[in-house]
Amino acid sequence: MAEPLFDRLCLLGVGLIGSSIARVARQRSDIARTVVAHAKTPATLDRVRELGIADVVEADAARAVEGADCVVFCVPVGANAAVMASIAPHLKPGAIVTDVGSTKMSVFRDLAPLTPKGVHLVPAHPMAGTEFSGPDAGFAELFQGRYVIITPVAETDPAAVEKVRELWNRCGSMIETMDPATHDKVVAIVSHLPHLLAFTICSTADDLAEETKEQVLKFAASGFRDFTRIASSDPTMWRDVFLNNREALLEMLARFTEDSQALGRAVRWGEAGFIEDRIQRGRKIRKGLIDRKQA
Ligand code: NAP
Repeated sequence: MAEPLFDRLCLLGVGLIGSSIARVARQRSDIARTVVAHAKTPATLDRVRELGIADVVEADAARAVEGADCVVFCVPVGANAAVMASIAPHLKPGAIVTDVGSTKMSVFRDLAPLTPKGVHLVPAHPMAGTEFSGPDAGFAELFQGRYVIITPVAETDPAAVEKVRELWNRCGSMIETMDPATHDKVVAIVSHLPHLLAFTICSTADDLAEETKEQVLKFAASGFRDFTRIASSDPTMWRDVFLNNREALLEMLARFTEDSQALGRAVRWGEAGFIEDRIQRGRKIRKGLIDRKQA
């Protein structure tokens, strides 16, 4: 196997994503010689020790990043700025700082101004996840065959981008690069809007249950159940994603509202052709996902 990419890799946050990276680095000797893990609560730190997925478990963020040649932010995006403020003076000159956050404009906004000169910021987003969170939720295969979007800007150091690309390559991912604004638009439609709809439909059904005094959810058969799987996702993470991708999410929500009203209108006026056309189009798009092995 190749030489390790990093001497010391520091993971800030060891939930679903951070602990999955830690597990890959445990399985393969070509990622890092030493993996340092930091989280916010003693319970998570204890659990990471029990799981044995990091070489060093460090409660102090500043100490965790000391000497690391790569630091990966795996915290909810709303925590980025505060965490960066606490570690910035302790980063090793020449270190790479990268992240896994679901929003990318906010990462530049929050991390770039606090990144010390000579430290290279390379934001990235693995398009892989589940509805579970915490260190027990992670698994080494999470990133296999999944896309990771790297969002460098003009000033980003190409050698640092190459290292981050290689990190994800060794995690089994397919890598794309994109500018941060395009990234935020793309994920608004493919990820953030579906989560917003799933959370909303659950509360709509719950309101209806109160109104009708019926156990509506008792009858939640396949459609509702499949559609709402992602509604069990972590509240802090998703609150932060919605608030940090505000413009793109609101734009997609407005477009979706228009399109769903058009379908509603067709239902009202009995326009069978329009309805069938929409269903056919949905099926085609879904089939495309399956064909690309992304379903
Ligand atoms: P998670 O399972 O909830 O884990 C979050 C981790 O961050 C925990 O270890 C938590 O520590 C730690 N943390 C939170 N606030 C912190 C702070 N102020 N200082 C230090 N550590 C802190 O979340 P996740 O699903 O791994 O998500 C992490 C990031 O990945 C998010 O930015 C998210 O947008 C992105 N992402 C998620 C998915 C997904 O499907 N879940 C997919 C792609 C990208 P404690 O446990 O001690 O609180």
